[in-house]
Amino acid sequence: MSQRNDGMIHDAGTSATLPFAAAKGDDIMQAFSAVLGPAGMVADDAGRAPYETDWRGKYHGRSLAVLRPADTAQVAAVMRICAHHGIAIVPQGGNTGLCGGATPNTAGRQIILSLQRMRRLRSIDAEGASITCEAGMPLAEAQGHAEAAGLLLPISIASEGTATVGGAVATNAGGLNVLHYGSMRGMVLGVEAVLPDGSLWSDLGGLRKDNTGYAVSSLLTGSEGTLAVVTAACLALSPRPSGHTTFLAGLDDPGQALAMLSALRAGAAEAVTAWELFSTVSADILRSEPPHLTLPLARAHGWYLLGEVSHFGPPSDAQAATLERLANLCDDLGLDDIVQATSQAQRASLWALREGISTAERSLGPSLKHDVSVSPGRVAGLATALVSECADLVPGLRLNVFGHVGDGNLHINALPLERGVAMPDRVADAVTRHIYDRTHDAGGSFSAEHGVGQAKRAEMLRYKPPDHLRVLRAIKSALDPQGLMNPGKVLP
Ligand SMILES: Cc1cc2nc3c(=O)[nH]c(=O)nc-3n(C[C@H](O)[C@H](O)[C@H](O)COP(=O)(O)OP(=O)(O)OC[C@H]3O[C@@H](n4cnc5c(N)ncnc54)[C@H](O)[C@@H]3O)c2cc1C
Repeated sequence: MSQRNDGMIHDAGTSATLPFAAAKGDDIMQAFSAVLGPAGMVADDAGRAPYETDWRGKYHGRSLAVLRPADTAQVAAVMRICAHHGIAIVPQGGNTGLCGGATPNTAGRQIILSLQRMRRLRSIDAEGASITCEAGMPLAEAQGHAEAAGLLLPISIASEGTATVGGAVATNAGGLNVLHYGSMRGMVLGVEAVLPDGSLWSDLGGLRKDNTGYAVSSLLTGSEGTLAVVTAACLALSPRPSGHTTFLAGLDDPGQALAMLSALRAGAAEAVTAWELFSTVSADILRSEPPHLTLPLARAHGWYLLGEVSHFGPPSDAQAATLERLANLCDDLGLDDIVQATSQAQRASLWALREGISTAERSLGPSLKHDVSVSPGRVAGLATALVSECADLVPGLRLNVFGHVGDGNLHINALPLERGVAMPDRVADAVTRHIYDRTHDAGGSFSAEHGVGQAKRAEMLRYKPPDHLRVLRAIKSALDPQGLMNPGKVLP
């Protein structure tokens, strides 16, 4: 072992920075404390606990400390200390991620870098239709600022009260409105981020067009904390719709949802902003579990479609025309059980059904979650095939299938066979393998919007071509040569 004049401790044979064990723990904690002060550090077991477990309660880690910087300069100072001592960093926003990406390993040597104290609005530009806010601002708060300026931040996810702007950027979050507005990457005009050596990447000018080299802000979007810490983002805003047509329809087969979508979009002046499918199992658990909601339809169906069309500009005959077209389409497709919201309260209660599915599922105990996508033309076939094939594979298995069908994205969650008890590993592995293999064979992805985190690293190895992985690894080692950013996540 030797100490070079850069102050890092290196292994003479490999020149790699040695891990934390070689450095003095107390000195490191003092260095963090000198930068952050007492308000910026959580070191005791009880205080760290909520940061060390994920939202699902599936991943449990142990950190050296939870650091809560107040501004970008503090993030940079923390990163320099970490680089110097070879300490790994796990960035964390609202901790609502579904792949364990924000949970440290169990060694107690990684720090959790929580952005929750960095939640300032930097600026809002109504003319340029953009908002610049710090990474720890909850999405719902950013949406509120946009609304106050008469604009729309069109990301919509059920966790938006807690999930942060930085987390949504880092996971390239999707949600209900991707169909019309795209996922987070489409909204990111630029980010400010601290790289692992403590240097700053800042691209917050709000430019809509800028072809000057690699699109680094886009690359950091969806990088799940493995390349840099996002400290702020400039996001594009959209005009607010002046009204909505929202409806719920019972379907016999998910193909009807896709047929209706393409017919409705053809030549339409308005925007179809959400197209959500859910299954009879989703309806059952909504009724039997909290939030105990019953569908306002005449009878039960195999599948349900919750659709929304947004109208822009002054109220006109457009809404009535949309309703007429919807009614005609339902007739053509033989759909006779449909309700339309006629007030904001009814619209909210239709959306509460969709948003309540995850809560209902959670109360049954640990389910086996999958978040897959195929090209939209193939999604109906995949949904029906998987429901029947998985029931053949495991008798009595109930698949809670729901999701953003217009984007070709389904959440296919196998409910526990026994309430509160995780499925045996052997059964779970067989179900997961079948779902992912089928999706892969249909040209799809094993992670549509939730990311990879630690949950799906093995799938990267299984389904990604070696050349693809080689490029990802090259990017990782160029930006994070010491491998300190969120190790054990995304890359196998
Ligand atoms: C009920 C529920 C519904 C959901 N619905 C959807 C949905 O419809 N669509 C969807 O896409 N997701 C959904 N999610 C998943 C989750 O909310 C999103 O992934 C969200 O973007 C995570 O944000 P967060 O701030 O909680 O990030 P965290 O969970 O804290 O972190 C997620 C990942 O991002 C990294 N990260 C966080 N902040 C930063 C930062 N500032 N810089 C660098 N890396 C960072 C972490 O290291 C981790 O890898 C849902 C989750 C729940 C619980």
